[in-house]
Amino acid sequence: MDLWYTEKHSDNVGITMKITKTLFSGKSEFQQLDIVETLEYGKMMLLDGLVMVTERDEFVYHDMITHPALFTHPAPKKVLVIGGGDGGSIREIMKHPEVELAVLCEIDGLVIDKSIEYLPSMACEIDGSNPRVKLHVDDGLAYIRAHQNEFDVILVDSTDPIGPAVGLFEEDFYRLVHAALKEDGIMVAQSESPFYHAEIQKSMFSNLRAVFPVVEMYQAFIPTYPSGLWSFAFASKKYHPVKDFDRQRATERGFTTRYYNEDLHLGAFMLPTFARDNIAE
Ligand code: SAM
Repeated sequence: MDLWYTEKHSDNVGITMKITKTLFSGKSEFQQLDIVETLEYGKMMLLDGLVMVTERDEFVYHDMITHPALFTHPAPKKVLVIGGGDGGSIREIMKHPEVELAVLCEIDGLVIDKSIEYLPSMACEIDGSNPRVKLHVDDGLAYIRAHQNEFDVILVDSTDPIGPAVGLFEEDFYRLVHAALKEDGIMVAQSESPFYHAEIQKSMFSNLRAVFPVVEMYQAFIPTYPSGLWSFAFASKKYHPVKDFDRQRATERGFTTRYYNEDLHLGAFMLPTFARDNIAE
């Protein structure tokens, strides 16, 4: 008998994948965590039944939530990731030699533990082996309150605005992020699907614009996310992601990336009209 996993993207549309094995299934105090082996996308992590990462296409998301900010900020020394318990964002941040410390604040320790156990290609830098990485198991909302004027870049690598992540899409949280950033700091947050989540984007970008002087959206193609068109919010106290982009540093980067590149950095901020309309002021 064939085993299929389906994620519903709306009441009548979804994605379905053939599963060969369930590697882990358990419930933390926050969510249901499943890690399965798929026939075509490698291992896949699900939280409350929703696709978080797959081995085959995670490179897109983790390239694009990290490198645009790290090649726009001229000297990103201290970086905070809120969420990101699979470790993929930290892996990409560590490729930047100028980063002296990357802090991961993930609310669910089970996600970290099972990512280290089953997804080593993503969790390779959060297994305790890298002295430039510090882990905190805590609510990002609590953590951020205790840190002011500390980070050059803050990445919000969270689940969708449901459950523990609801508060990570609100204006109050963005004000706390603004305070935790240094005077020229940059924040990037995953900002859902322009095709399915127009209302979430409208509210999220309005909240960001109430706090940050520079707010832009950029896009990426992630086949296992709803509609395949995904987006990120770039919110900045000073630098603009296109005008202040350090193209030379990005071109001469000493590491390979399978999705991000110095041309795509610029192209990603050119949006389809409907996506631009979602966040029109
Ligand atoms: N790439 C995925 C996406 O775009 O949906 C995100 C993956 S990562 C696994 C999401 C993480 O955010 C989860 O591990 C979840 O536990 C964490 N998270 C949710 N709310 C949080 C909060 N308030 N503080 C810290 N981590 C949180």
